[in-house]
Amino acid sequence: MAESMKGLHRSHRCTEVSRENIGQTVTVMGWVQKSRNKGGIIFTDLRDRSGILQVIFEEKECGSAVFEKAATLHSEYVIAVEGVVEARQGAVNENLATGDIEVRARSLRILSESETPPFPIERDSKTREEMRLKYRYLDLRRPDLQRNLMVRSQVAMVTRAFLAEEGFLEIETPTLIKSTPEGARDYLVPSRVHPGSFYALPQSPQLFKQLLMCSGYDRYFQLARCYRDEDLRADRQPEFTQIDMELSFVDVEDVLEVNERLLKRLFKEVCNVDVELPIPRLTWKEAMDRFGSDKPDMRFGMELHDVSDVVRGCEFVVFKSALEAGGSVRGINAEGQAGMPRKKIDALVEYAKGFGAKGLAYLAIHEDGSYKSSFAKFMKPEELDALVAAMGGKPGDLLFFAADKNKVVFDVLGNLRLELARQMDLLKKDEFKFLWVTEFPLFEYSEEEGRYKSTHHPFTMPMEEDWHLIDSDPGAVRSKAYDIVLNGTELGGGSVRIHQADIQEKMFEKLGFTPESAKERFGFLLEAFKYGVPPHAGLAYGLDRVVMLMVGADSIRDVIAFPKVKDGSCLMCEAPSAVDPAQLAELGIAVEEQADEPQE
Ligand code: ASP
Repeated sequence: MAESMKGLHRSHRCTEVSRENIGQTVTVMGWVQKSRNKGGIIFTDLRDRSGILQVIFEEKECGSAVFEKAATLHSEYVIAVEGVVEARQGAVNENLATGDIEVRARSLRILSESETPPFPIERDSKTREEMRLKYRYLDLRRPDLQRNLMVRSQVAMVTRAFLAEEGFLEIETPTLIKSTPEGARDYLVPSRVHPGSFYALPQSPQLFKQLLMCSGYDRYFQLARCYRDEDLRADRQPEFTQIDMELSFVDVEDVLEVNERLLKRLFKEVCNVDVELPIPRLTWKEAMDRFGSDKPDMRFGMELHDVSDVVRGCEFVVFKSALEAGGSVRGINAEGQAGMPRKKIDALVEYAKGFGAKGLAYLAIHEDGSYKSSFAKFMKPEELDALVAAMGGKPGDLLFFAADKNKVVFDVLGNLRLELARQMDLLKKDEFKFLWVTEFPLFEYSEEEGRYKSTHHPFTMPMEEDWHLIDSDPGAVRSKAYDIVLNGTELGGGSVRIHQADIQEKMFEKLGFTPESAKERFGFLLEAFKYGVPPHAGLAYGLDRVVMLMVGADSIRDVIAFPKVKDGSCLMCEAPSAVDPAQLAELGIAVEEQADEPQE
């Protein structure tokens, strides 16, 4: 029978008990990790969120009633033990923080019993993730998940403390807002009071934080829950958390400066990592040219080389046709990989095709200086020599080349570079390489929609230097947008915002909005800007990603208490679910018969 807490007070968490308490009586509470009866003496490992403590029940010390009760203990029973701390009599357990002590029990209460859990509560669980997510409350008892959520809490605390010291105000913005989709789809919430009308859940607090700047709050932040109804993709969550901020009377430098200090403080206090300041910067163009990516992993080199001019004029049709079509030929040097077996090279070629390559040319430089190559027979020996020299190739190296439109070449080589780094074991989880990527293009051309879209969002300021190109060459206009990248993952991004009505109008025009449609969606922001708006800028981090990288987890699911799976459902509470017809009737909603498969 479950006993009560009446008259009991926990004196210590399990691992707060130490050699300093030897001789003292303590009261500890938690879950039974395991309990072994060795005839006359029972060894119980007691677990709470701090760790494990060994409790010993010996009949001559605790009496036969307590001993008999202790003999009924099973894993995951919740108990309270009062006992005396002693130096461990058996071998010291080096793996436990409390490995040199034990608590000799005097009394025991069973606060609740437990059925046998569907999987053991242990570090590095071997249990399938679906099973763990169905019983997430048990999964969350595991020490690795508990550590992750403690780190997450600490990140939130340190962020709050730092930003408060810097004069930021924490202000909540609404989560039932008007639908203004740009980018991802909105989640909609039907209104009962206004049948046929819907709120949207915010994709970010963007418009509201800009309005707060109009209202004079100067520096705002929020740990904001955001919702995006994106297509099914691994490691995306329909709801996620941003560290969101906005600042008035600032330009790019000011935002980067305060954020560098935030990152330094966070990584030092939470995981004792020293972030060297200033954080290196690359413009978007440099990042693409050198790494084929707008979020390059800086833990290793293997940079791209543009060899278009070196191979111009050679007869290899793959190179020739790419150049004639206005594309480029670029390569990377996998140093020391010349001995890579043919099978592995073929797999890399297939991998490259997944990113749009029609093929991948390669050249291995043997130790004796001779070449083995997929395209040597189409090139003159001196052309090959020039190519190898341009790539900095040495005996033992393996060179890969992609020839296509620039976008495809960057995508292929950027991803190949990462795949090679994984295979060559160049990605160390305990190395933290930060990077700012700046000067993103203002627009991206969408082939599908046949129009320009904003790379960041429609409120991002173009660079003053490029403004004159807005009509003649919109694709060439750079913006005051920036991303913060850590080890090849985009941690966050932001921009300086447009605060001038004429520039904003021009932006909307370029993005295909009519004055009416812009007003319909963003009217309240445009209206607010008529009454005195300070220049402002901001940034938002994906908190889940920050924590994921800090703890070295492979998925953001491991740093979210109750995550959803790829199709957006919660395996534990089984959301989303059908609702009562009466609820639908109240909302004036009729549901069509649905196919069983979720919609992409
Ligand atoms: N709201 C933007 C985002 O969610 C970030 C920003 O511009 O501050 O990506």
